Amino acid sequence: MRIWNGSYGSELLDPLIHLANQVGIEERIDQAINVNLSVNEANQWIAVPGPVIVGAGPSGLAVAACLKEKGIPSVILERSHFIASLWQLKTYDRLHLHIPKHFCQLPLMPFPESFPTYPSRAQFVRYLEAYARRFNIRPVFNSTVVSAEFDPRSELWRVHTVGSDGSLTKYVSRWLVGATGVNAEESVPGIGGMDEFKGPVIHTSSYKCGEIFQGQRVLVIGCGNSGMEVCLDLCNHNARPSMVVREGVHVLPREILGWSTFGLSSWLLKFLPVRVADRFLLCISRLMLGNTELHGLKRPKLGPLELKSLSGKTPVLDVGALARIKSGDIQIFPAVKRLTAHGAEFVDGRLESFDAIILATGYRSNLHTWLKGGRELSKGWKWERGLYSAGFSMQGLMGTSVDAQKIADDIGRCWVHGFSVL
Ligand SMILES: Cc1cc2nc3c(=O)[nH]c(=O)nc-3n(C[C@H](O)[C@H](O)[C@H](O)COP(=O)(O)OP(=O)(O)OC[C@H]3O[C@@H](n4cnc5c(N)ncnc54)[C@H](O)[C@@H]3O)c2cc1C
Repeated sequence: MRIWNGSYGSELLDPLIHLANQVGIEERIDQAINVNLSVNEANQWIAVPGPVIVGAGPSGLAVAACLKEKGIPSVILERSHFIASLWQLKTYDRLHLHIPKHFCQLPLMPFPESFPTYPSRAQFVRYLEAYARRFNIRPVFNSTVVSAEFDPRSELWRVHTVGSDGSLTKYVSRWLVGATGVNAEESVPGIGGMDEFKGPVIHTSSYKCGEIFQGQRVLVIGCGNSGMEVCLDLCNHNARPSMVVREGVHVLPREILGWSTFGLSSWLLKFLPVRVADRFLLCISRLMLGNTELHGLKRPKLGPLELKSLSGKTPVLDVGALARIKSGDIQIFPAVKRLTAHGAEFVDGRLESFDAIILATGYRSNLHTWLKGGRELSKGWKWERGLYSAGFSMQGLMGTSVDAQKIADDIGRCWVHGFSVL
């Protein structure tokens, strides 16, 4: 058994110093890891005095920083080999934050004044790297959590990881924080004929820039913020994009009368019922953008804020794609019936040729793959038996900050010093 020394981001191989005065601790850890282990097996276990955090995205970093501020060490386990893997690996070059920076900053460290209102992806990553440096957060990289399970006998969490070299490590802790995000895995729908299509089919997570599609007819399946922005990027690189709009979509201007639409919506919701706020937003959008339905962008029955709160579906904040739809540079199609060798057949009977397909079909959580007990962790931050979640409240980075501070405050209330709280 080894002990994690959070303050130095390393393991301390002399646990006796920490355990000497902790009556009953050794028995509880022994129970959690099963007493009859060989020395080698026992050395696979690491006892973490503070919480184990799964995921080194913005949420995991924010929780670790808030804990650090209270003098509470933690360990972050991250499957990738750097922080914020979604932002570094799976986003396209032209991406900027969709909502203004002051709604996206993490606790205890604002964005630099010099950053624009909507920082670019590269600026956001730079900010996160500076954040990790400032709070001396050093995650354990290449460490995929494959299971986390509460042991009722010892009342401790047992967390198993697999390294990129296949090595197994096991952690034991009183607290577990799930911070693997709602965008952990690509959502890829089953579309008939996908195997027949001869051109490339990629998910937006692999899309970087439209340059390689120059002159090509590209079908973008999905019309959320990513689908719209990828279409715009394709136009800007002289490709010929078409976009599938299967159900309705709310397109709103990114700013209204000098306010960010996000900020205005949050403000309206303080005073008005959601349906009234929605009606107001839709009226203004109609005045500013015209009737989007005339261009094939049918609006859903529920308003944008009500839809977001009930289903998590985010409205599109337009950054220029709508103008290219109106001009005909981006064509709109209904749902795909099936793909063919060189194109697609749509539910309205049209048959079109395409050179490439981009799936802007979103992401999903992977909690069910590693958190034992079938917990969903949506719309909340505190669960039973020392289990917390950050970044699952469907409030984006603003929700992340709120969750992180609440989690640190809650753990701080029962943290005395090191292992004495176990
Ligand atoms: C294109 C795009 C644009 C966006 N723009 C905005 C925006 O402008 N504003 C906003 O508020 N939100 C935006 N979002 C939402 C954004 O995903 C989140 O706000 C933010 O990244 C959430 O951070 P997170 O830490 O919760 O999750 P993530 O950033 O997804 O981080 C989760 C981390 O957990 C790791 N992980 C996953 N599974 C495991 C495992 N089993 N073991 C170990 N590690 C694991 C991942 O590798 C990852 O590093 C955008 C999302 C996308 C896809």
